[in-house]
Amino acid sequence: MSGASLERGIHAFKEAIDAPVASFFSSCVRCGLCSKACLFYTETEDPKYTPIHKLEPLRRVWRQEYTFWGRLASALGLSKQLTDADLEAWETLVYDSCTLCGRCSMICPVGNDITYMIRKMREGMAASGHAPPGLIGATRRAVTIGSPMGVKLPALQAQIRHVEKETGLSVPVDVEGADYMLLLSSMEIMNFPEFIGAIARIFDKAGVSWTISSEAFEATNSGIQIGVSEIAAELVQRVVDAAGKLKVKNVISPECGHAYMAIRWEGPNLVGKPFDFKVVHILELLDELRAQGRLKISDKEVQRLTYHDPCQISRRGGVVEQPRRLLDMVAENMAEMPETGTLNWCCGAGGGVSSNERADDLRLTVFKRKKAQLDKVKPDAIVSACSNCRIHLEDGLEEYGMEIPVLSLTELIAEHLADEK
Ligand code: SF4
Ligand code: SF4
Repeated sequence: MSGASLERGIHAFKEAIDAPVASFFSSCVRCGLCSKACLFYTETEDPKYTPIHKLEPLRRVWRQEYTFWGRLASALGLSKQLTDADLEAWETLVYDSCTLCGRCSMICPVGNDITYMIRKMREGMAASGHAPPGLIGATRRAVTIGSPMGVKLPALQAQIRHVEKETGLSVPVDVEGADYMLLLSSMEIMNFPEFIGAIARIFDKAGVSWTISSEAFEATNSGIQIGVSEIAAELVQRVVDAAGKLKVKNVISPECGHAYMAIRWEGPNLVGKPFDFKVVHILELLDELRAQGRLKISDKEVQRLTYHDPCQISRRGGVVEQPRRLLDMVAENMAEMPETGTLNWCCGAGGGVSSNERADDLRLTVFKRKKAQLDKVKPDAIVSACSNCRIHLEDGLEEYGMEIPVLSLTELIAEHLADEK
Protein backbone atom coordinates (compact mmCIF):
# COMPACT_ATOMS: atom_id res chain seq x y z
CA MET A 1 0.00 0.00 0.00
CA SER A 2 2.95 2.32 0.52
CA GLY A 3 4.33 4.02 -2.59
CA ALA A 4 0.95 3.84 -4.32
CA SER A 5 0.69 5.69 -7.63
CA LEU A 6 -1.33 5.73 -10.83
CA GLU A 7 1.53 4.00 -12.66
CA ARG A 8 1.68 1.23 -10.09
CA GLY A 9 -2.09 0.86 -10.31
CA ILE A 10 -2.11 0.56 -14.08
CA HIS A 11 0.78 -1.91 -13.90
CA ALA A 12 -1.23 -3.95 -11.36
CA PHE A 13 -4.27 -3.88 -13.68
CA LYS A 14 -2.13 -5.24 -16.53
CA GLU A 15 -0.76 -7.97 -14.24
CA ALA A 16 -4.27 -8.77 -13.02
CA ILE A 17 -5.57 -9.46 -16.53
CA ASP A 18 -4.97 -13.20 -16.73
CA ALA A 19 -6.61 -15.65 -19.14
CA PRO A 20 -9.91 -15.91 -17.20
CA VAL A 21 -10.26 -12.10 -16.95
CA ALA A 22 -9.50 -11.66 -20.67
CA SER A 23 -11.98 -14.36 -21.63
CA PHE A 24 -14.66 -12.94 -19.30
CA PHE A 25 -14.35 -9.47 -20.85
CA SER A 26 -14.38 -10.82 -24.39
CA SER A 27 -17.42 -13.02 -23.74
CA CYS A 28 -19.59 -10.37 -22.03
CA VAL A 29 -22.64 -9.83 -24.24
CA ARG A 30 -23.72 -6.70 -22.36
CA CYS A 31 -27.08 -8.22 -21.48
CA GLY A 32 -27.16 -6.44 -18.11
CA LEU A 33 -28.59 -9.47 -16.31
CA CYS A 34 -25.90 -9.20 -13.64
CA SER A 35 -27.59 -5.99 -12.45
CA LYS A 36 -30.66 -7.95 -11.34
CA ALA A 37 -28.44 -10.22 -9.25
CA CYS A 38 -26.78 -7.42 -7.30
CA LEU A 39 -28.52 -6.00 -4.23
CA PHE A 40 -26.75 -2.66 -4.70
CA TYR A 41 -28.58 -2.29 -8.02
CA THR A 42 -31.91 -3.85 -7.05
CA GLU A 43 -32.25 -1.73 -3.91
CA THR A 44 -31.19 1.59 -5.48
CA GLU A 45 -32.02 1.08 -9.19
CA ASP A 46 -28.94 3.15 -9.93
CA PRO A 47 -27.32 1.79 -13.11
CA LYS A 48 -23.84 2.64 -11.85
CA TYR A 49 -24.20 -0.37 -9.54
CA THR A 50 -24.48 -2.83 -12.46
CA PRO A 51 -21.73 -5.36 -11.63
CA ILE A 52 -19.98 -5.33 -15.00
CA HIS A 53 -19.96 -1.51 -14.99
CA LYS A 54 -17.95 -1.57 -11.74
CA LEU A 55 -15.13 -3.09 -13.80
CA GLU A 56 -14.98 -0.40 -16.48
CA PRO A 57 -11.40 0.84 -15.74
CA LEU A 58 -10.06 -2.71 -15.80
CA ARG A 59 -12.00 -3.39 -19.01
CA ARG A 60 -10.45 -0.29 -20.57
CA VAL A 61 -6.93 -1.46 -19.77
CA TRP A 62 -7.76 -4.93 -21.15
CA ARG A 63 -9.06 -3.40 -24.38
CA GLN A 64 -6.13 -1.02 -24.81
CA GLU A 65 -3.44 -3.54 -23.96
CA TYR A 66 -4.71 -6.91 -25.07
CA THR A 67 -7.05 -6.47 -28.06
CA PHE A 68 -6.09 -5.64 -31.65
CA TRP A 69 -8.53 -2.76 -32.08
CA GLY A 70 -7.76 -1.34 -28.67
CA ARG A 71 -4.03 -1.37 -29.33
CA LEU A 72 -4.54 0.22 -32.71
CA ALA A 73 -6.70 2.97 -31.21
CA SER A 74 -4.05 3.57 -28.52
CA ALA A 75 -1.28 3.72 -31.14
CA LEU A 76 -3.29 6.31 -33.10
CA GLY A 77 -3.92 8.32 -29.95
CA LEU A 78 -7.66 7.69 -30.21
CA SER A 79 -8.28 6.13 -26.83
CA LYS A 80 -8.56 7.79 -23.46
CA GLN A 81 -5.94 6.68 -20.95
CA LEU A 82 -6.94 5.99 -17.35
CA THR A 83 -6.47 8.88 -14.93
CA ASP A 84 -6.45 9.24 -11.16
CA ALA A 85 -9.81 10.98 -11.47
CA ASP A 86 -11.27 7.87 -13.18
CA LEU A 87 -10.01 5.62 -10.42
CA GLU A 88 -11.21 7.98 -7.74
CA ALA A 89 -14.67 7.91 -9.32
CA TRP A 90 -14.65 4.11 -9.34
CA GLU A 91 -13.31 3.61 -5.80
CA THR A 92 -16.73 3.55 -4.17
CA LEU A 93 -18.10 1.24 -6.88
CA VAL A 94 -15.38 -1.34 -6.35
CA TYR A 95 -15.22 -1.25 -2.55
CA ASP A 96 -18.37 0.35 -1.06
CA SER A 97 -20.90 -1.27 -3.37
CA CYS A 98 -19.47 -4.75 -3.76
CA THR A 99 -19.41 -7.38 -1.03
CA LEU A 100 -17.74 -9.95 -3.32
CA CYS A 101 -20.90 -11.97 -2.70
CA GLY A 102 -20.69 -13.83 -6.01
CA ARG A 103 -24.38 -13.65 -6.87
CA CYS A 104 -23.72 -11.85 -10.16
CA SER A 105 -21.28 -14.59 -11.13
CA MET A 106 -24.02 -17.20 -10.57
CA ILE A 107 -26.48 -15.33 -12.79
CA CYS A 108 -24.29 -14.30 -15.76
CA PRO A 109 -25.49 -16.38 -18.73
CA VAL A 110 -22.01 -16.71 -20.21
CA GLY A 111 -20.42 -17.70 -16.91
CA ASN A 112 -18.35 -14.60 -16.22
CA ASP A 113 -16.94 -14.66 -12.70
CA ILE A 114 -17.44 -10.95 -12.04
CA THR A 115 -16.50 -11.39 -8.39
CA TYR A 116 -13.11 -12.77 -9.41
CA MET A 117 -12.64 -9.75 -11.66
CA ILE A 118 -13.58 -7.29 -8.92
CA ARG A 119 -10.99 -8.88 -6.65
CA LYS A 120 -8.46 -8.53 -9.46
CA MET A 121 -9.47 -4.92 -9.98
CA ARG A 122 -8.98 -4.16 -6.29
CA GLU A 123 -5.28 -5.10 -6.76
CA GLY A 124 -4.90 -2.14 -9.12
CA MET A 125 -7.07 0.16 -7.02
CA ALA A 126 -4.99 -0.49 -3.88
CA ALA A 127 -1.72 -0.11 -5.83
CA SER A 128 -2.91 3.24 -7.18
CA GLY A 129 -3.86 4.53 -3.72
CA HIS A 130 -7.61 4.29 -4.25
CA ALA A 131 -8.68 2.02 -1.42
CA PRO A 132 -11.02 3.13 1.41
CA PRO A 133 -9.31 4.53 4.53
CA GLY A 134 -11.22 2.12 6.81
CA LEU A 135 -9.96 -0.90 4.91
CA ILE A 136 -6.41 0.50 4.76
CA GLY A 137 -6.45 0.89 8.55
CA ALA A 138 -7.82 -2.66 9.07
CA THR A 139 -5.15 -4.08 6.75
CA ARG A 140 -2.35 -2.20 8.54
CA ARG A 141 -3.54 -3.52 11.89
CA ALA A 142 -3.74 -7.06 10.47
CA VAL A 143 -0.10 -6.84 9.36
CA THR A 144 1.37 -5.07 12.38
CA ILE A 145 -0.82 -6.38 15.22
CA GLY A 146 -2.17 -9.59 13.70
CA SER A 147 -5.83 -8.57 13.75
CA PRO A 148 -7.85 -6.10 11.65
CA MET A 149 -9.56 -4.90 14.82
CA GLY A 150 -6.26 -4.62 16.71
CA VAL A 151 -7.03 -7.58 19.01
CA LYS A 152 -3.86 -8.75 20.73
CA LEU A 153 -3.07 -12.00 22.53
CA PRO A 154 -3.81 -10.60 26.05
CA ALA A 155 -7.37 -9.74 24.90
CA LEU A 156 -7.87 -13.31 23.66
CA GLN A 157 -6.38 -14.69 26.88
CA ALA A 158 -8.80 -12.57 28.93
CA GLN A 159 -11.76 -13.91 26.93
CA ILE A 160 -10.46 -17.47 27.32
CA ARG A 161 -10.21 -17.05 31.11
CA HIS A 162 -13.78 -15.75 31.15
CA VAL A 163 -15.00 -18.70 29.03
CA GLU A 164 -13.14 -21.21 31.21
CA LYS A 165 -14.72 -19.76 34.35
CA GLU A 166 -18.17 -19.87 32.81
CA THR A 167 -17.99 -23.37 31.32
CA GLY A 168 -15.67 -25.05 33.83
CA LEU A 169 -13.73 -26.39 30.85
CA SER A 170 -10.20 -25.67 29.81
CA VAL A 171 -9.56 -23.98 26.46
CA PRO A 172 -6.35 -25.50 25.09
CA VAL A 173 -3.69 -23.10 23.77
CA ASP A 174 -0.48 -24.15 21.96
CA VAL A 175 -1.07 -27.88 22.42
CA GLU A 176 1.35 -29.65 20.10
CA GLY A 177 -0.04 -32.60 18.14
CA ALA A 178 -3.73 -31.69 18.58
CA ASP A 179 -6.00 -32.93 15.79
CA TYR A 180 -7.55 -29.51 15.15
CA MET A 181 -6.27 -25.94 15.39
CA LEU A 182 -9.12 -23.44 15.76
CA LEU A 183 -8.91 -20.01 14.13
CA LEU A 184 -11.11 -17.16 15.34
CA SER A 185 -12.15 -13.87 13.86
CA SER A 186 -11.50 -10.73 15.91
CA MET A 187 -15.25 -10.13 15.90
CA GLU A 188 -15.83 -13.49 17.57
CA ILE A 189 -13.18 -12.76 20.19
CA MET A 190 -14.49 -9.30 21.04
CA ASN A 191 -18.22 -9.45 20.23
CA PHE A 192 -19.16 -13.12 20.52
CA PRO A 193 -16.81 -14.89 22.98
CA GLU A 194 -19.76 -17.26 23.59
CA PHE A 195 -18.60 -18.92 20.36
CA ILE A 196 -15.38 -20.05 22.10
CA GLY A 197 -17.44 -21.40 25.00
CA ALA A 198 -19.73 -23.25 22.56
CA ILE A 199 -16.73 -24.87 20.87
CA ALA A 200 -15.26 -25.89 24.24
CA ARG A 201 -18.53 -27.54 25.27
CA ILE A 202 -19.15 -29.30 21.95
CA PHE A 203 -15.58 -30.56 21.61
CA ASP A 204 -15.53 -31.74 25.22
CA LYS A 205 -18.70 -33.80 24.68
CA ALA A 206 -17.63 -35.09 21.26
CA GLY A 207 -14.07 -35.91 22.38
CA VAL A 208 -12.31 -33.68 19.84
CA SER A 209 -8.60 -32.96 20.36
CA TRP A 210 -8.08 -29.26 19.63
CA THR A 211 -6.04 -26.17 20.32
CA ILE A 212 -5.77 -22.47 19.60
CA SER A 213 -2.38 -21.06 18.56
CA SER A 214 -1.13 -18.05 20.48
CA GLU A 215 0.90 -17.06 17.42
CA ALA A 216 -1.80 -17.19 14.72
CA PHE A 217 -5.36 -17.14 16.01
CA GLU A 218 -6.79 -14.59 13.55
CA ALA A 219 -8.86 -16.13 10.78
CA THR A 220 -9.74 -13.13 8.64
CA ASN A 221 -7.61 -11.86 5.77
CA SER A 222 -7.75 -8.13 5.05
CA GLY A 223 -5.19 -8.56 2.27
CA ILE A 224 -7.81 -10.31 0.15
CA GLN A 225 -10.49 -7.76 0.94
CA ILE A 226 -8.38 -4.73 0.06
CA GLY A 227 -6.70 -6.44 -2.91
CA VAL A 228 -3.01 -6.78 -1.95
CA SER A 229 -1.94 -10.36 -2.67
CA GLU A 230 1.43 -10.02 -0.93
CA ILE A 231 -0.29 -9.10 2.33
CA ALA A 232 -2.91 -11.81 1.84
CA ALA A 233 -0.11 -14.37 1.37
CA GLU A 234 1.74 -13.13 4.46
CA LEU A 235 -1.39 -13.53 6.60
CA VAL A 236 -2.01 -17.06 5.27
CA GLN A 237 1.65 -17.95 5.88
CA ARG A 238 1.28 -17.06 9.57
CA VAL A 239 -1.43 -19.72 9.88
CA VAL A 240 0.66 -22.23 7.91
CA ASP A 241 3.66 -21.61 10.20
CA ALA A 242 1.59 -21.95 13.38
CA ALA A 243 -0.05 -25.17 12.14
CA GLY A 244 3.39 -26.54 11.25
CA LYS A 245 4.83 -25.59 14.64
CA LEU A 246 1.97 -27.28 16.50
CA LYS A 247 1.99 -30.25 14.07
CA VAL A 248 -1.80 -30.20 13.72
CA LYS A 249 -3.62 -32.27 11.09
CA ASN A 250 -6.51 -29.88 10.54
CA VAL A 251 -7.25 -26.17 10.76
CA ILE A 252 -10.80 -25.05 11.57
CA SER A 253 -12.14 -21.92 9.91
CA PRO A 254 -14.64 -20.36 12.33
CA GLU A 255 -18.01 -18.68 11.81
CA CYS A 256 -16.67 -16.12 9.35
CA GLY A 257 -17.37 -16.23 5.62
CA HIS A 258 -14.36 -14.45 4.20
CA ALA A 259 -11.98 -16.26 6.52
CA TYR A 260 -13.14 -19.56 5.02
CA MET A 261 -12.73 -18.34 1.45
CA ALA A 262 -9.28 -16.96 2.28
CA ILE A 263 -7.79 -19.98 4.02
CA ARG A 264 -9.70 -22.80 2.31
CA TRP A 265 -9.96 -21.71 -1.30
CA GLU A 266 -7.31 -19.03 -1.77
CA GLY A 267 -4.72 -20.00 0.84
CA PRO A 268 -2.63 -22.60 -1.03
CA ASN A 269 -2.59 -20.48 -4.20
CA LEU A 270 -1.47 -17.44 -2.22
CA VAL A 271 1.47 -19.22 -0.56
CA GLY A 272 2.24 -21.16 -3.73
CA LYS A 273 1.99 -24.73 -2.43
CA PRO A 274 -0.49 -27.19 -0.94
CA PHE A 275 -1.01 -27.13 2.82
CA ASP A 276 0.30 -29.97 5.01
CA PHE A 277 -3.04 -29.86 6.84
CA LYS A 278 -6.70 -29.96 5.90
CA VAL A 279 -8.91 -26.88 6.27
CA VAL A 280 -12.49 -27.45 7.44
CA HIS A 281 -15.21 -24.98 8.17
CA ILE A 282 -16.63 -25.41 11.68
CA LEU A 283 -20.00 -26.43 10.15
CA GLU A 284 -18.32 -29.14 8.08
CA LEU A 285 -16.70 -30.53 11.23
CA LEU A 286 -19.92 -30.34 13.25
CA ASP A 287 -21.76 -32.15 10.47
CA GLU A 288 -19.09 -34.88 10.48
CA LEU A 289 -19.48 -35.24 14.24
CA ARG A 290 -23.26 -35.43 13.75
CA ALA A 291 -22.87 -38.17 11.12
CA GLN A 292 -20.56 -40.11 13.47
CA GLY A 293 -23.15 -39.90 16.27
CA ARG A 294 -20.84 -37.76 18.41
CA LEU A 295 -23.26 -34.83 18.77
CA LYS A 296 -26.01 -35.72 21.18
CA ILE A 297 -28.91 -33.31 21.52
CA SER A 298 -31.12 -33.08 24.61
CA ASP A 299 -34.05 -31.25 23.04
CA LYS A 300 -34.93 -29.33 19.90
CA GLU A 301 -35.33 -25.58 19.51
CA VAL A 302 -39.04 -24.82 19.13
CA GLN A 303 -38.87 -21.25 17.80
CA ARG A 304 -39.49 -20.70 14.08
CA LEU A 305 -35.98 -20.35 12.62
CA THR A 306 -34.59 -19.36 9.27
CA TYR A 307 -31.01 -19.73 8.04
CA HIS A 308 -29.08 -16.85 6.48
CA ASP A 309 -26.46 -18.36 4.14
CA PRO A 310 -23.19 -16.40 4.39
CA CYS A 311 -22.11 -15.87 0.76
CA GLN A 312 -18.54 -17.14 1.16
CA ILE A 313 -19.66 -20.23 3.05
CA SER A 314 -22.64 -21.26 0.90
CA ARG A 315 -22.37 -19.74 -2.57
CA ARG A 316 -18.59 -19.41 -2.85
CA GLY A 317 -17.66 -22.11 -0.34
CA GLY A 318 -20.06 -25.00 -1.06
CA VAL A 319 -21.09 -25.51 2.58
CA VAL A 320 -24.84 -25.53 1.90
CA GLU A 321 -26.25 -28.86 3.07
CA GLN A 322 -24.23 -29.17 6.29
CA PRO A 323 -25.99 -26.29 8.12
CA ARG A 324 -29.35 -27.62 7.02
CA ARG A 325 -28.60 -31.12 8.32
CA LEU A 326 -27.42 -29.59 11.60
CA LEU A 327 -30.55 -27.45 11.83
CA ASP A 328 -32.68 -30.49 11.14
CA MET A 329 -30.99 -32.14 14.11
CA VAL A 330 -31.45 -29.21 16.49
CA ALA A 331 -34.60 -27.34 15.38
CA GLU A 332 -38.22 -28.34 15.01
CA ASN A 333 -39.49 -25.44 12.96
CA MET A 334 -37.22 -24.33 10.12
CA ALA A 335 -38.45 -22.06 7.33
CA GLU A 336 -36.31 -21.33 4.28
CA MET A 337 -36.24 -17.80 2.92
CA PRO A 338 -37.12 -17.40 -0.77
CA GLU A 339 -33.93 -17.59 -2.88
CA THR A 340 -31.84 -19.45 -0.39
CA GLY A 341 -28.70 -21.61 -0.42
CA THR A 342 -26.38 -20.70 -3.30
CA LEU A 343 -28.82 -18.01 -4.47
CA ASN A 344 -29.29 -16.36 -1.10
CA TRP A 345 -28.99 -12.58 -0.96
CA CYS A 346 -25.97 -11.08 0.77
CA CYS A 347 -26.52 -9.22 4.06
CA GLY A 348 -24.69 -6.27 2.47
CA ALA A 349 -21.57 -6.05 4.64
CA GLY A 350 -19.09 -8.63 3.34
CA GLY A 351 -16.01 -8.13 1.17
CA GLY A 352 -14.59 -5.43 3.42
CA VAL A 353 -17.73 -3.25 3.33
CA SER A 354 -18.12 -3.58 7.11
CA SER A 355 -14.59 -2.19 7.63
CA ASN A 356 -15.40 0.76 5.40
CA GLU A 357 -17.35 3.28 7.51
CA ARG A 358 -17.94 5.41 4.43
CA ALA A 359 -20.27 2.67 3.16
CA ASP A 360 -22.44 2.49 6.30
CA ASP A 361 -25.49 4.27 4.84
CA LEU A 362 -25.38 2.26 1.62
CA ARG A 363 -25.10 -1.10 3.39
CA LEU A 364 -28.15 -0.22 5.48
CA THR A 365 -30.05 0.87 2.37
CA VAL A 366 -29.40 -2.43 0.59
CA PHE A 367 -30.45 -4.36 3.71
CA LYS A 368 -33.99 -3.82 2.35
CA ARG A 369 -33.41 -6.94 0.25
CA LYS A 370 -32.79 -9.07 3.35
CA LYS A 371 -35.73 -7.40 5.06
CA ALA A 372 -38.00 -8.41 2.17
CA GLN A 373 -36.79 -12.01 2.45
CA LEU A 374 -37.41 -12.03 6.20
CA ASP A 375 -40.85 -10.45 5.81
CA LYS A 376 -41.85 -13.47 3.72
CA VAL A 377 -40.97 -16.06 6.39
CA LYS A 378 -41.50 -14.07 9.59
CA PRO A 379 -39.06 -16.07 11.71
CA ASP A 380 -38.78 -15.87 15.50
CA ALA A 381 -35.00 -15.95 15.11
CA ILE A 382 -32.37 -15.97 12.35
CA VAL A 383 -29.52 -18.46 12.46
CA SER A 384 -26.26 -17.87 10.64
CA ALA A 385 -22.62 -18.93 10.65
CA CYS A 386 -20.65 -15.72 10.12
CA SER A 387 -19.97 -13.17 12.83
CA ASN A 388 -19.72 -10.38 10.24
CA CYS A 389 -23.17 -11.26 8.84
CA ARG A 390 -24.46 -11.50 12.39
CA ILE A 391 -23.37 -7.98 13.32
CA HIS A 392 -24.74 -6.51 10.13
CA LEU A 393 -28.01 -8.43 10.41
CA GLU A 394 -28.40 -6.98 13.91
CA ASP A 395 -27.64 -3.47 12.59
CA GLY A 396 -30.05 -3.85 9.68
CA LEU A 397 -32.84 -5.27 11.83
CA GLU A 398 -32.45 -2.38 14.25
CA GLU A 399 -32.47 0.13 11.39
CA TYR A 400 -35.78 -1.25 10.07
CA GLY A 401 -37.37 -1.72 13.51
CA MET A 402 -37.44 -5.53 13.32
CA GLU A 403 -37.04 -7.34 16.60
CA ILE A 404 -35.60 -10.68 15.54
CA PRO A 405 -32.67 -12.21 17.41
CA VAL A 406 -29.70 -13.47 15.38
CA LEU A 407 -28.15 -16.73 16.56
CA SER A 408 -24.95 -18.59 15.78
CA LEU A 409 -25.54 -22.16 14.58
CA THR A 410 -22.55 -23.44 16.60
CA GLU A 411 -23.86 -21.74 19.74
CA LEU A 412 -27.38 -23.07 19.10
CA ILE A 413 -26.04 -26.62 18.96
CA ALA A 414 -24.04 -26.09 22.16
CA GLU A 415 -27.17 -24.85 23.92
CA HIS A 416 -29.05 -28.03 23.08
CA LEU A 417 -26.28 -30.52 23.86
CA ALA A 418 -27.20 -33.51 25.96
CA ASP A 419 -25.24 -33.94 29.17
CA GLU A 420 -23.82 -37.34 28.21
CA LYS A 421 -20.52 -37.62 26.37
S1 SF4 B 1 -24.61 -10.81 -17.04
FE1 SF4 B 1 -22.60 -11.43 -17.87
S2 SF4 B 1 -22.79 -11.17 -20.07
FE2 SF4 B 1 -24.48 -10.02 -19.16
S3 SF4 B 1 -23.68 -7.90 -18.87
FE3 SF4 B 1 -23.27 -8.99 -16.96
S4 SF4 B 1 -21.19 -9.82 -17.22
FE4 SF4 B 1 -21.91 -9.27 -19.27
S1 SF4 C 1 -20.28 -9.73 -6.14
FE1 SF4 C 1 -22.30 -9.30 -5.21
S2 SF4 C 1 -22.18 -7.18 -4.49
FE2 SF4 C 1 -20.44 -7.50 -5.93
S3 SF4 C 1 -21.21 -6.83 -7.91
FE3 SF4 C 1 -21.60 -9.04 -7.78
S4 SF4 C 1 -23.71 -9.22 -6.97
FE4 SF4 C 1 -23.01 -7.11 -6.58
